[in-house]
Amino acid sequence: MFESLSDRLSGVFDRLTKQGALTEDDVRTAMREVRVALLEADVSLPVARDFVKRVTAKATGAAVTKSITPGQQVVKIVHDELKQILAGEEGIPPLKIDNPPAPILMVGLQGGGKTTTTGKIAKRLKDREGKRVLMASLDVNRPAAMEQLAILGGQIGVDTLPIVPGQSPVDIAKRAKQQASLGGYDVYMLDTAGRLQIDQVLMDEVAQVHAAVQPRETLLVVDGLTGQVAVEVAEEFDAKVGVTGVVLTRMDGDGRGGAALSMRAVTGKPIRFVGTGEKPDALETFDPDRIAGRILG
Ligand code: GDP
Repeated sequence: MFESLSDRLSGVFDRLTKQGALTEDDVRTAMREVRVALLEADVSLPVARDFVKRVTAKATGAAVTKSITPGQQVVKIVHDELKQILAGEEGIPPLKIDNPPAPILMVGLQGGGKTTTTGKIAKRLKDREGKRVLMASLDVNRPAAMEQLAILGGQIGVDTLPIVPGQSPVDIAKRAKQQASLGGYDVYMLDTAGRLQIDQVLMDEVAQVHAAVQPRETLLVVDGLTGQVAVEVAEEFDAKVGVTGVVLTRMDGDGRGGAALSMRAVTGKPIRFVGTGEKPDALETFDPDRIAGRILG
């Protein structure tokens, strides 16, 4: 995901660390290159600008430039600031799934990986936390999507709500809630319908379901390859239904990484997970420290 950004940054920092003594101008020149590299990775302009400003302020003081290993100090500052833009001060909070049955609402555009990710998270909660999970598809316009979730449930050993034709998304959500309570489930996950683009009907539908079940988590699933578009989609969904976390999919692809780097800073929403493939296990928790390390090569 971050290969080209990582290559660019390693080039800049290799030179800096090999150089020995550093002047403030050396740092400023390096940071100009960092800024270009971030923009080429599709990081949003204000985020890239702010990042470079903060690193420069910290890295141009005498404490750094007059130290024995100035280059390494700069790299350390960049690492810490990367962590900061990836996750903010508070880091990545765990999913709020106490108080069973806890509803998790899955939202996003069609094709972003919502259904696949619903299954991945359900499997993870079952396998790693021993949770009993119930999944339900609310995609009433696409019977195939409902079938897809049922088949996925069978593959990963997670129950799905029986399909009853003719019900509205809100009806299905309420039925899922009831079934989850009666059946002693810890979590129920609602896979909402996606559209090819954001529209009022989709948003109204999601808002109605949200109001009906009051989800503990509303997770937006977006394609990480779409860069700044993913960030715009997150802002729109957040404005309409209040997103509590983001899952970036297709992080196994050759995207430039801009979505991951801009998401938290622009939307204020934490990235909770990243999808790294099509298989039900291809999901990683978003670890800012590790990602910052990966970006720095
Ligand atoms: P939905 O319309 O948002 O529910 O999207 P789906 O869950 O049906 O996923 C659309 C396609 O993207 C499927 O072919 C998935 O296998 C694929 N997909 C989902 N997540 C990932 C991911 O993290 N990496 C890759 N490579 N493919 C993914």
